[in-house]
Amino acid sequence: MERAFDTVILDNSEESVKRAAELLKRGEVVGMPTETVYGLAANALDPAAVEKIFIAKGRPQDNPLIVHVAGFDMIAPLVTEIPALARRCAEVFWPGPLTMIMPKSELIPKTTSGGLDTVGIRMPSNKTARRLIRECGFPIAAPSANLSGSPSPTKASHVFNDMDGRIPCIIDDGSCAVGVESTVIAFEGDKIRLLRPGFISREEMSEIAEVIVDKGVTEAVASDAAVASPGMKYKHYSPKADVTIVRGDDESFEVFAMEMAGQGVWFMTFGKEDTEAKGANVIPYGETDEEQAARLFDVLRELDEVGAERVYARCPRETGVGLAVYNRLLRAAGFKVIEL
Ligand code: AMP
Ligand code: MG
Repeated sequence: MERAFDTVILDNSEESVKRAAELLKRGEVVGMPTETVYGLAANALDPAAVEKIFIAKGRPQDNPLIVHVAGFDMIAPLVTEIPALARRCAEVFWPGPLTMIMPKSELIPKTTSGGLDTVGIRMPSNKTARRLIRECGFPIAAPSANLSGSPSPTKASHVFNDMDGRIPCIIDDGSCAVGVESTVIAFEGDKIRLLRPGFISREEMSEIAEVIVDKGVTEAVASDAAVASPGMKYKHYSPKADVTIVRGDDESFEVFAMEMAGQGVWFMTFGKEDTEAKGANVIPYGETDEEQAARLFDVLRELDEVGAERVYARCPRETGVGLAVYNRLLRAAGFKVIEL
C-alpha cells in the first residue's frame, strides 16, 4: 500500500480525542486504545470508511468487524432484537471485553458485518475509547489494529509498526490491560455459544447461563468451512518463526529444552524455569493466566525482533483466561502441539 499519511502518535488527552473524532467524522481511520488490544477505528455506519479498515489491514472481506458503543442506549437502532440473555450479560459484564452477536438492523452496512445478517457489539471499559465514541456520536467499527495475520497490537508502538503511512494517527494509552481480544458469544435460546474465548471466561458466564464452547475454539477449521464466526478460519497472530506448543511439566520441559536448544531456537516459558541459566534463548510470558494474556502478543512480536526461527511455547492452562491464551497460541502455532 502506498504511503497516504505521516502517522502521528497522539498523547491520551481530551484534545487528542477531539482530533481523532474530527478525522473519524470525515470518514478516516484512526488507531484507538481499548482494554483488550488497540483497534483500527472507523464509523461503523459508513461503508466507505469501513472499507478503509479492510484496506489498511489487508483483511479478508468476509471477516466481520466488531461494533463498539459507549452505552447500552446506542444498541437499539443497530439490532432487530435484543435477547433477554444479552441484556443480562450486558448488566454483568459491560463495560468490558465481551462481544455479543445479535441480528443486525438495516443501519449496519454489510461491509461492517462481513456480509452476515448479524452484528457483534461491545461496550469497551477503556475510557478513552468510550469518550471517542461519544464525541463522534456514532458507533465505531474496530478490529485489532495489526496487519492481517500478525499478532494483535497491545502498545501504540505495535500499531505504528504495522500502520505507519496507512492511517493519520494513533491515540497512545499505554499497554492494554487485558492483552487478548474480547470474548465473542452468540445466543441460542437460553444458552450461550462461546465463539472466541477472552478475558470474560467461560466459567464466569456459566454463572448466568449454560455455555457451549464452539469446536472452533480449540480445533482447526478448514478455510472453506461454514463457521459460526468467520475469524476462526484465518491464520492469526503469527510471528515469522515456526511456533510449536509444548505440553508437559516443569521437569520434562527442562529436559526437552536442553535437547532442542540451539541457534535461532527460542523458548516461551512461564518464567520460573532455569532453562536460561543453561544457555537456551528464553522469553518468559508469565505465570498466571492474566499475565500470559497481557504479555502474549508483545512476546510474539519480540520474537520477530530477536530473529527467532523456531519457538517452543509452554502450554497455557485451558481454564479461565487461560483458554483465551491457549486459543491464540494454537493459531500462532498452526495447531502444532507436542505432548511430553
Ligand atoms: P477482530 O476484529 O480482529 O477482533 O475480529 C473480530 C472477530 O469477531 C471476527 O473475526 C469474528 O470471528 C467475530 N465476529 C464479529 N462479528 C461477528 C458476527 N456477526 N458473527 C460471528 N462472529 C463475529
Ligand atoms: Mg484481529
